[in-house]
Amino acid sequence: MSSQITSKELLDRAKAIHEDIRTWRRTIHRFPELTFTEQRTASLVNATLVDLGVETEAEVAKTGVVGHIRGGAGPTVGLRADMDALPIQEVNGTEFDSTRPGIMHACGHDAHTAMLLGAATLLKGLADEGRLPGSVRLLFQPSEEAQDSEGKSGGMRMVEEGVLQGLDAVFGLHVDSFHDVGYVATRPGPMMAAADKFELVVTGSGGHAARPQSTIDPIALSAHVINAVHQVVSRRLDPTEHGVITIATIHGGTVDNVIPDRVTMTGTIRSFTPRAREVLHAELKRAASIVEPLGGRADLTIHPGYPPTVNDPTAAEHMMATMRELLGDDHVAESELIMGAEDFSYMAQAAPGCFLRLGVHNPGWKEYYPVHRADFRLDEDALPIGAAALALTALRWMETKR
Ligand SMILES: [Zn+2]
Ligand SMILES: [Zn+2]
Repeated sequence: MSSQITSKELLDRAKAIHEDIRTWRRTIHRFPELTFTEQRTASLVNATLVDLGVETEAEVAKTGVVGHIRGGAGPTVGLRADMDALPIQEVNGTEFDSTRPGIMHACGHDAHTAMLLGAATLLKGLADEGRLPGSVRLLFQPSEEAQDSEGKSGGMRMVEEGVLQGLDAVFGLHVDSFHDVGYVATRPGPMMAAADKFELVVTGSGGHAARPQSTIDPIALSAHVINAVHQVVSRRLDPTEHGVITIATIHGGTVDNVIPDRVTMTGTIRSFTPRAREVLHAELKRAASIVEPLGGRADLTIHPGYPPTVNDPTAAEHMMATMRELLGDDHVAESELIMGAEDFSYMAQAAPGCFLRLGVHNPGWKEYYPVHRADFRLDEDALPIGAAALALTALRWMETKR
């Protein structure tokens, strides 16, 4: 092996391909694709990797792509990007706005894909120079935003298909509109929440609104349920844990003089640990059952979503150290806990993993333009930084962990 590349050299190489990364990002941005329909994006990824001389596998987890960069006999490190867009109508008015009505890359997955292609370019370059002591598996996954009819997301499917087998570690990143370009954040342990959905049907027995005594009023019962549910986090969850239960919809009744038979509520349950998750599920069920002694019935269905994203302590420490090397000590923050969910969580269960938040806010912007909004935007100066961050994290892991 020849000499170790410095972080400065690697960042300079990333900046030298800024134009390529931006072109990939803008092309993908113009043609966004929803969950498990990312064929066009996957073709772009596949063709780009093949051009680089990277061995690829297509149609992984339906519409995903996996690339293999082979270096020395050291460990194999996984790097992940997601490729799907959201059902949002873009309002930005740039020359590279979405050309597809009602679909937009409003979560930055276009940038994630482009940055991983950038990282692939850098790492393949190092491999060709004999300076890559291990191997890299590039994981371009479909459908981070949604689960298919079988309740599976792209990350979950990739894990199930064995794509992560044999990985020494896996790393990924997400654009973050609340950090300036050049800044990153992560943390060891839980970082993003588990997100489960629920549907709760409170059944009573309807009748004339003027004769409540001959009904079991599900609207009155629901008032008890709402109070009880809102006490779960404050009274039943260990105060050192974090959690949210939100009742987000409630529907009952059709007309002012009829008491309905039932009320339906739906909502979300968020937690960071298996223990908190279990408590919230069990206590939600218990809170709903408050209607039973009053003559009503509660039917609760919980639809499990993504597990919490938990960063492996060693992988997180490694990634933070690598980011301090790349960007400087004062540009690396410990991430706060984030109540949103991420299906990178499945990958971090399959191999020691760490997820990074990459600042994409332009310090000159007076406002923030966060993800999942029709005016979401990012400062493209973050693109080479993200590419270098992924490449250096993989490289340094191979150099130090072999
Ligand atoms: Zn999203
Ligand atoms: Zn996202």
